[in-house]
Amino acid sequence: MAAFVIALAFWGSAGMVRAQYLPRHAPLPEAAPRPAAAPEGPEADANTLSAEAGEEPETPPTAPIPAKRPEPPRQMAGLPTPPPPADEHEPGPGSGETAPVAGPPVPPEIAPVPPSKPPLIRKVILRPTPPPAPARLACRADLRRLGVKFEERAPLSDPAAGCSVPNPIEVSALSSSVGIGPGAVMNCALADQLARFVRDTASPSAERIFDSPIASIRQASAYVCRDRHGTERISEHAFGNAIDIAEFVLKDGTTIDVKDYGDSDPKRTEFLDEVRQAACGPFRTVLGPGADADHSLHFHFDLEPRKSKNAFCQ
Ligand SMILES: [Zn+2]
Repeated sequence: MAAFVIALAFWGSAGMVRAQYLPRHAPLPEAAPRPAAAPEGPEADANTLSAEAGEEPETPPTAPIPAKRPEPPRQMAGLPTPPPPADEHEPGPGSGETAPVAGPPVPPEIAPVPPSKPPLIRKVILRPTPPPAPARLACRADLRRLGVKFEERAPLSDPAAGCSVPNPIEVSALSSSVGIGPGAVMNCALADQLARFVRDTASPSAERIFDSPIASIRQASAYVCRDRHGTERISEHAFGNAIDIAEFVLKDGTTIDVKDYGDSDPKRTEFLDEVRQAACGPFRTVLGPGADADHSLHFHFDLEPRKSKNAFCQ
């Protein structure tokens, strides 16, 4: 019995040692991270409050889905009406040809905004003097046949005043034997008429009365951008369509000023009267000494277009 007790004691101590060195159970796994606590929001507070008030919270098992707020009609809200869905689009021309049978959804067509075009910048090409119209060519050819010496001048224009001479010329001689000075700027038609008048009428009168042809003419005014004296009507001078003649110089040196000689100089008076009368017709307006104070010292000849067949002569 004693031996049995001893044996039991030994066994028990060995068991204690064994139990001391053996783990009681498998190691515990590390605790899984706990889900973060739900943030305390108003809803939690509301639930808490309602619970505290003794009311049974009507907490649904899942998070409540907020009711979809009805959108106000866009027209009432002042918003632009969106384009209809792509299906409601009317097929454009040729759209059926390119419509794919199947494929990814095509976004609704949006009218492409055309890129703003840059302003068109025309390349300005400066040309020499443009070729004159046939009429102008014919007039200049006529001047050359008459022996008129002239040079082309730049166009004259003053829109505010109404003055304009599109193709002026500066005339320095009415023929190979009759000069005019200072250089007179006028239109070609006036130069042509003046050259013919001097050749066919004025110079033969001087030859008949003074036995000497006209050698030169002193002009007082050709192109001038101005109104008629004492009026608001634009002068024919403003169109290069008028010439003021102040003096005739004959080949023998005789000078004939344009003025009223009265009875003091019958030959000069005869010459001036003859020229003035002959000019009425070839020129549409003829003024001179006695017409008014402005024309006491020169003849005014112009080619003003008139409705009447008759020229205006004073
Ligand atoms: Zn005049």
